[in-house]
Amino acid sequence: MPGKCCFNNIWLHKEIYKSWLEKTEDKGKAKCVVCRKTFDISHMGEMALTSHAKGAKHHAAVAAREASAITSFFRTTPQTATVTPPAVCSSSTVLYQTDKPMLPFLCEDMNKLIKGLMGRFVVDKHLHEATSTLKLLAVPFQDNRLHKDASQIDIGFTADTTLKQLRSSKQVSERQAIKVRLDCKRLLIALEKLLKKAPLQHTLVRSMQCLDPRRMAKSKEQCVKQMTRMLHILVECKHIDDAVCDDTLREFRDVCDMARCHTAFREFDPNTELTAFSTRQWGVSHLFAECGI
Ligand SMILES: [Zn+2]
Repeated sequence: MPGKCCFNNIWLHKEIYKSWLEKTEDKGKAKCVVCRKTFDISHMGEMALTSHAKGAKHHAAVAAREASAITSFFRTTPQTATVTPPAVCSSSTVLYQTDKPMLPFLCEDMNKLIKGLMGRFVVDKHLHEATSTLKLLAVPFQDNRLHKDASQIDIGFTADTTLKQLRSSKQVSERQAIKVRLDCKRLLIALEKLLKKAPLQHTLVRSMQCLDPRRMAKSKEQCVKQMTRMLHILVECKHIDDAVCDDTLREFRDVCDMARCHTAFREFDPNTELTAFSTRQWGVSHLFAECGI
């Protein structure tokens, strides 16, 4: 026997449903946009909604959506498009989808990415003071004293435009607009957890920057320090024999000296194959062969 309950438009505005509920053509059904599931409400009416919201699958889907929020910041109303921040990560992620040796560039790129994301809510001064990756990782991003004023939080160009439009058409109040900015901040702070697992935490990844030809050309001293640190780690984990380290360091110093005078090093493009570049420039021997790079 068909039920009697119909979809009630009021539900779309209720705080507990509005982030996921959508109307369907069928009045006896409702749709959850997070689970992408349509379910019957004709028998239970609103109870069907509360029951769906309590479900384990719904909770998991909501959690997954929050996790992917880096590319999908927030949904203003179920009818409007999802507002997204500029794709700060896309260029890096595309660059790293390759079999080419990219680790030497990872540290600097991640450093830029973190500064870009955290700079959305952290006062510039504190990020400028983090002159090395290690210092950047030590910045207490959760500390309110480091944060920008709520109205200054950068939620991205598109999101900001949409929010301003909603404000001027009085669809959202100033308080709601501020809440959106604060929600974005909370989300960005949550990303700090990811930082704890980031490859940047490894000395080896940070040291490998010394193999970036642009750095070799710019700062021999720093690069030799990093190369030495890298060799220590590789010897420690028995990846290389310590007998080759002196030769490798000598060779590396020579290459750095050469790099300083060559525009090819200074203007190296990470999209170029690093191993091919190295072979062409100085005929790789110990270094790349031993390190398996
Ligand atoms: Zn759901």
